[in-house]
Order: sequence, then C-alpha cells, then structure tokens
Amino acid sequence: MSRQTHCAGGVESMKHTRILILGGGFGGAYTALHLDRLFARDASVEVTLVSAENFLLFTPMLHEVAASALDPSDIVSPLRQMFRRVQLLEAEVQHIDLSARRVAVTYGPSRRARELEYDHLVIATGSEDNFFGKAELAARSLTMKTLTDAMFLRNRVIALLEDALLESDPQRRREMLTFVIAGGGFAGVEVIGALNDFLRSALRWYPTIRAEEIRLVLVHPKEVVLPELGEALGRYAQRKLIESGVEILLSNKVEGYSGGWVTMSEGEPISAATLIWTAGVKPGKIIEELAVPKENHRLKVNEFLALPESPEVWALGDCASAIDSNTGKPFPTTAQHAVRQARTVAYNIAAVLEGKPLKPFRFKMLGQLAAIGHRVGVAQIFGVRFSGLPAWFLWRSVYLLKLPRLQKKLQVALHWTADLFFSRDLIQSITVRGLEKAMRVLDEGRAMSAGDTSAVAVTNSRTVTSNLNRLRHASGSNDET
Ligand SMILES: Cc1cc2nc3c(=O)[nH]c(=O)nc-3n(C[C@H](O)[C@H](O)[C@H](O)COP(=O)(O)OP(=O)(O)OC[C@H]3O[C@@H](n4cnc5c(N)ncnc54)[C@H](O)[C@@H]3O)c2cc1C
Repeated sequence: MSRQTHCAGGVESMKHTRILILGGGFGGAYTALHLDRLFARDASVEVTLVSAENFLLFTPMLHEVAASALDPSDIVSPLRQMFRRVQLLEAEVQHIDLSARRVAVTYGPSRRARELEYDHLVIATGSEDNFFGKAELAARSLTMKTLTDAMFLRNRVIALLEDALLESDPQRRREMLTFVIAGGGFAGVEVIGALNDFLRSALRWYPTIRAEEIRLVLVHPKEVVLPELGEALGRYAQRKLIESGVEILLSNKVEGYSGGWVTMSEGEPISAATLIWTAGVKPGKIIEELAVPKENHRLKVNEFLALPESPEVWALGDCASAIDSNTGKPFPTTAQHAVRQARTVAYNIAAVLEGKPLKPFRFKMLGQLAAIGHRVGVAQIFGVRFSGLPAWFLWRSVYLLKLPRLQKKLQVALHWTADLFFSRDLIQSITVRGLEKAMRVLDEGRAMSAGDTSAVAVTNSRTVTSNLNRLRHASGSNDET
C-alpha cells in the first residue's frame, strides 16, 4: 500500500507495508520479535500483533501452576514489554477475509468491533480443546490450555480439600476427592503427575483426609501413554505413576460426564467431582471458517509456511500443517516447532519485501521431555531415551533456560528452590462470593457501555446464572442455580 508523507521538500509518496500477526503465543510472539529486530530502523514497515491476551504463556510449565509449585505470573511474559516497535492490540479475532485482506476483531468488555487491513497476514492462533462434538463434556470438564485453566484447577483442588474435610457422607467425600483426567499425552501425564504430588503432600494440613480416599484416574485411548516418546518410556511413565498412587485405564475413552459420573467406552462409570479434559485439540472457529485447503483441521501451508493460493498469508504453529520433507508427515504441534517456524516466517516476509529468495522451513526435533511428578521425568534427546531423576533435572534445566525474560527465570528458580524446603501454598484465591461479585460488575459494565441501561437487569439474571454455574464449578462448588 502506498501513502503520502510530508517531508522537507514537500509531499513524497512512501511505500508502507502493514504486517498483521494474529495470536500472541509461541508462533505469533516470536514472529513479532524477529520482525521487530529485522525492521527496527524501517519506518515503512508497520507490524501489529493482535492477541486475546496481552501475555505470552509458557505452556510447558502450566501443570506446575495447577499444582501450586509456581505462581501464575511466573510463567507468563508481558507482550507489551517484549517489543520496541511492534504494536500490540489486545483483541479477539472474529473473522478473516482473505479476498478483501481484512480482519475483523472485537475488544474490551463490551466487545467493540474494529477492522484491520493488511499486506501480509501471519496466522498463529494455535488450537483449542476439541470435545469431538460432545457439548456435555465441553460444559462440565476443566481444561488445561490457558493460564485461567491452571488457576481454576489449582483453586478447585484446594476448594475440594476444604469441603471434603467438612463432609461426613463417605460417598460424597470420595467423589470430591476423585479426579479423572482424559488423555494420556504430554499434558494429561504431566498434569496427573503434578496433581498427585500436590494432593498427597497437602494431606498433612487436612488431618482427617486419608491418602486412600484420594483417587486420580488417567483414561487413555491407546495401550501406552505418552505415544510421542515411544513404548519403552511410555511404559516406564505408567509404572512410575502407578507406584505413586495413580490409576491408569488404557484402551479406554471418556464418553460422558453427567450427575458427577464419568462414563467411559469400557468398564464401570466413576463417581468424580472433577473431570480434566486433555484428550484433543483443534484450531478454532476462525480457521474452521476459512475456505482454504486443510489437513486434519489445520491450514495447509507450503514449505515456506505460506498458504499456497495466498502467498501474502503465512501460518505457523498449532493451526498450520507443513510437511516435513524428511518424514513426509506434518510437523508435530509443539512449542519447539512454533518458535523455529516464527524465524522462517519473519525471514520470508523480509525476503518478499526485499525481493530475495525465500527459505524453506526445515527442522529436526532435538528431543522431548516430560516431568511426571515425584522428581521423575522421561526424556528422549537426540534419539537417546532416559528417565528418572536425570530426566526430571534436565526437564527443569531446559525449560528454565527456554523461559523468556531473565526476571521470569529468576522468579521460577526462586520458587523451585523454595519448593525443596517449604510446603506448597494452599490459598483458595477464587471464591464463589468473589465470582458472583465479579460477574455482576462485568455484566453491568457491558450493558451500560452498550447504552442499554434497561437491559441491565435482564442481562444480569440470564448471563450471571449461566456463567456462574461454570465458574462455580471451577471454584469448587457443584451446586447449580
Ligand atoms: C499443557 C500443555 C503443555 C505443553 N507442553 C509442551 C512442552 O513441554 N513442549 C512443547 O514443545 N510444547 C508443549 N505444548 C504445546 C505448545 O504449547 C504448543 O504447541 C504451542 O503453544 C503452539 O504455539 P502456537 O503459537 O501455535 O499457539 P499458542 O501458543 O497456543 O498461541 C496461540 C495464541 O493465539 C491466541 N488466540 C487464539 N485465538 C485467538 C483469537 N480468535 N483472537 C486473538 N487471539 C487468539 C491465544 O490467546 C494465544 O495467545 C504444551 C501445550 C499444553 C496445552
């Protein structure tokens, strides 16, 4: 796009390029960082990052927040403080119009609308939980994708311990202390390992709850958990989890969750107050709506990470599917890949603007690591597999080094050191009373800024009730209004 600027000699026409990045996760934030450096002194290039949150979430440590080993602020980096020239818009993308080169976004509590134009578009909106069309599971289970998810889970675990202490009905108490996790991939295994440690170590502060009353069940559709790490490490992880008190149901799937009962494809239902869903992800609605070629719901991109029919549109991370020329299969959806793809996308956008040849994306995974609780880890690095304390120590060292910003590294190192000597925090920071108040204020604010004060009462009663039922669940209560 061309625009006129005023200069000493009069009016001059300047080429102005607008690069719009959607999503502030590993793919989007790192693309923005590279572009920030590449165009640091080029006023003709304008880079805008749109993200639903104003922070970058370090997902590999999410389970540590859920298990009270780290604080929420330890694992997030403020996007606004990461860039020099990139503009950050905290907004939600609603629609992408590829032919008009426009993106519709909404922002603020009353969801005001705005349209953004682009010359180059980078799509990095990641993925969201996939419940395979089961609305009941989507409505009732907790998930493990966002910082809020981890905070809700931690809060719920603590709330249930507090309630169980007061509960005299043994069946009800057993239900409160039963946690079912659907999906035995990285997220499910790391969460169950961390929660198991947290719950059992918390028991010294809840003297009337016995260790046998706590039940954690991992339901996995295949024969071995952690399929990404191979059979030997998967079996090792299973053995260690079982030794530490976790039950594992293999070749089984969670099918439903109603009235406090988790039903599965095989075997008896389980009475549990909490179901945590880590059994599938897929890109969100805005990707679904794009009428372009896809592979397993993800946007098909060429070796340069551009959409084949729209070379000015780039996609990376969990929402994109690029073929690895070494294996002939799509690259896996990991942070490792998203971060490396970001460098390629930024390079290629600069190459297009400078008329240089593009670079294909090539990457061979260095390894994979998972922490499974009890200071035990499993790892596969450069094809070598190992487990136990060395793998756990490596997990901590590698991810501490990868965590963005020195300030956060120091925070995490401090918390991990404290964790060696002190017991974990049992503060229940989200309460039903607090939520009720927050929802009322939010709904009143929304109705007011929509200019319809008469709608306040109606909006309140309807939205507050439906939102509260979901939030109450997260805060530990099972009562529905
Ligand atoms: C619990 C858990 C543990 C994990 N552990 C590991 C690990 O140990 N190692 C590893 O390599 N990978 C791990 N992963 C996977 C890794 O997090 C993802 O592969 C990676 O985050 C993908 O990066 P991305 O940029 O595509 O998506 P994300 O990092 O998810 O970022 C997507 C961004 O887009 C934003 N967004 C989405 N929709 C919209 C919208 N409509 N409008 C505006 N913004 C939007 C989101 O808010 C988010 O900021 C883990 C994932 C989870 C959930």
